[in-house]
Amino acid sequence: MSLNDKVALVTGAASGIGEQCARKLATDGAMVVIADLNLANAQRVAEDIVAAGGNAIAVAMDVTSEETVNAGVAETVSRLGGIDVLVSNAGIQIVNRIEDYAFADWKRMLAIHLDGAFLTTKAALKYMYASNKGGAVIYMGSVHSHEASQLKSAYVTAKHGLLGLARVVAKEGGPRGVRANVVCPGFVRTPLVDKQIPEQAKALGISEQAVVKDVMLKDTVNGEFTSVADVANTVAFLAGFESSALTGQSVVVSHGWFMQ
Ligand code: NAD
Repeated sequence: MSLNDKVALVTGAASGIGEQCARKLATDGAMVVIADLNLANAQRVAEDIVAAGGNAIAVAMDVTSEETVNAGVAETVSRLGGIDVLVSNAGIQIVNRIEDYAFADWKRMLAIHLDGAFLTTKAALKYMYASNKGGAVIYMGSVHSHEASQLKSAYVTAKHGLLGLARVVAKEGGPRGVRANVVCPGFVRTPLVDKQIPEQAKALGISEQAVVKDVMLKDTVNGEFTSVADVANTVAFLAGFESSALTGQSVVVSHGWFMQ
């Protein structure tokens, strides 16, 4: 499935999963927009993609700010001519038991994961509808869109919420050619997960090795981490799907940790 001449904006694309999604979409022919809070890293990724023969630009975006989201999407449209694919991926993790979970941390988590998904969707839909070409919206969910884990109240709440948002976008956008789906990875070794391992070890009173083996990968079929490539390939598949049959779904990529 070719993404030639499509414009794909990926949030949180300066690192980890988002970065690999952007690289894969560019390899498949899309013009990609590396949208991230960290502009220096976003520019590095965009330059790398261009050096490899792809098409990419970097834009500064804080997904919790309506102003910077609207500005980043407007810049995308004015520089690249439109927006066909949105990958709402930016995210962070804060782990703590509910009784110790700071309200400020809860609000920050929901702002990045849910406000960010809403604001980028709202901004992108405006142009997808106006173009009459439709588009694809892909949310970066998680196995935690379906399962719960200790210490992750805000994350699990937010990731479950993305399923609801995707279903509404699928219904509202369907008649106008916009599909919406959620990709739900298991644990992927990125900076977000590397930071959590010592934090979880401390909170659960176990070794870091035990966090990986007995918490993160315990329920997978083969004790393996999901890779950034696994996730990016799934995103590219959903982005390029050629009919509106595949919409309102979640696709779990987790070595069988969660089976639906
Ligand atoms: P990461 O830390 O490697 O990258 C996250 C990126 O998001 C960074 O470049 C960061 O600068 C950017 N970002 C953070 N806050 C932002 C904001 N307000 N506005 C714009 N950009 C912002 O993390 P990752 O592991 O690649 O995670 C990406 C997404 O994948 C997240 O939504 C995460 O919840 C989800 N996810 C990750 C895993 C995993 O195991 N790593 C599993 C399932 C889902």
